[in-house]
Amino acid sequence: MWKKGEMVMQGRKILVRQSCMPPYEEYIEAIRPLWDSHWLTNMGKYHRELEKKLQEYLEVPELSLMVNGHMALEMAIQMMEFPEGAEVITTPFTFISTTHAIVRNKLEPVFCDVKESDGTIDETKIERLITEKTAAIIPVHVYGNVCNVEEIERIAWKYRLKVIYDAAHAFGVRYKGKGIGNCGDAAVFSFHATKVFNTVEGGAVSVPRNEMYERLYNLKNFGIRNEELVVDVGANAKMNEFSAVMGLCNLRHAVEAAEERKRRYELYRDLLDGVKGIRFFESREGTESNYAYFPILVGEGYRTDRDGLCRVLMENNIFPRKYFYPLTADQACFKNKYCRVELACARKLSKEVLVLPLYADLDRGAVEEIAEMIRDPFGR
Ligand SMILES: *Cc1c(COP(=O)(O)O)cnc(C)c1O
Repeated sequence: MWKKGEMVMQGRKILVRQSCMPPYEEYIEAIRPLWDSHWLTNMGKYHRELEKKLQEYLEVPELSLMVNGHMALEMAIQMMEFPEGAEVITTPFTFISTTHAIVRNKLEPVFCDVKESDGTIDETKIERLITEKTAAIIPVHVYGNVCNVEEIERIAWKYRLKVIYDAAHAFGVRYKGKGIGNCGDAAVFSFHATKVFNTVEGGAVSVPRNEMYERLYNLKNFGIRNEELVVDVGANAKMNEFSAVMGLCNLRHAVEAAEERKRRYELYRDLLDGVKGIRFFESREGTESNYAYFPILVGEGYRTDRDGLCRVLMENNIFPRKYFYPLTADQACFKNKYCRVELACARKLSKEVLVLPLYADLDRGAVEEIAEMIRDPFGR
């Protein structure tokens, strides 16, 4: 039985995330050749090697490594050459990066509501938002929950729209037997330190065709093709060799780490099953999860609200996160600018959601304690 304050007594803080790291010696050994070659960046050996290995791991036709997930999104959008001011239908229930990438490309985000069942864009509400200015849809596989990719593809085809998936949470997710990066005209991954697979900072864009890969290569490297030829107005968004080596090391442990997360995920589910007022997202049939996050929804019937539960956990040294609250549409920089419709469901989810700590090395005992605090938030 959980005694209030046990975690506090131990003085141990449990954060929502702990970055995955290879054994120290493994990384040090792996970066040694950089001291011999002095080749630290500019699409070096390890950049190319990681690109190839990840392309295989994610089962995608082409993959371009980037300096981080946000620049990967910006480059994927820039690649499409949308006219300035074009509209992009997207979700407000995401990390701010998704919306920023649209606005920073001089496009207009048009927020669509999400589904209560899994937090992804509500595909039944997309068509009514389409105007002559609509150029693209940018949905998010939020928490690794797969969007209704079939219906989104049908709509995109009908109205000739591009689809770029923000797959920042979906590293390693498979859907109907294929890597998730195969959906849409492009998919963007993040390898930030807090994501399930990291290169310290990093990201990638997966695309179906080689000419798109070449275009991304230009965009991430100033458009430089050779010493005397610049063909594109590119940025600098390439991954360096230290990050690439970190990725190669972490990739060796990626399958095992996913299995470890799965065990903790299932333990949470077992222990929290049937707690009145606590719900979970549903996953789409055909999804093979990466067990990246463990979000719960604290709704009606529970002993307190989401913020109340969050406080109880924090008082006991557990630090869950309110991902994603507030909605990006409600942030100070966007407020009252791009909202054309009610975002009732997104608002409800953002007030109910709480992401619990989940990572490969999380103690089994910690999962049990956290679950017990949720079952009985005020002790006895
Ligand atoms: C993390 C994240 C990004 C940005 O990735 P970075 O690697 O941190 O730049 C974009 N979208 C979503 C949904 C994310 O969670």
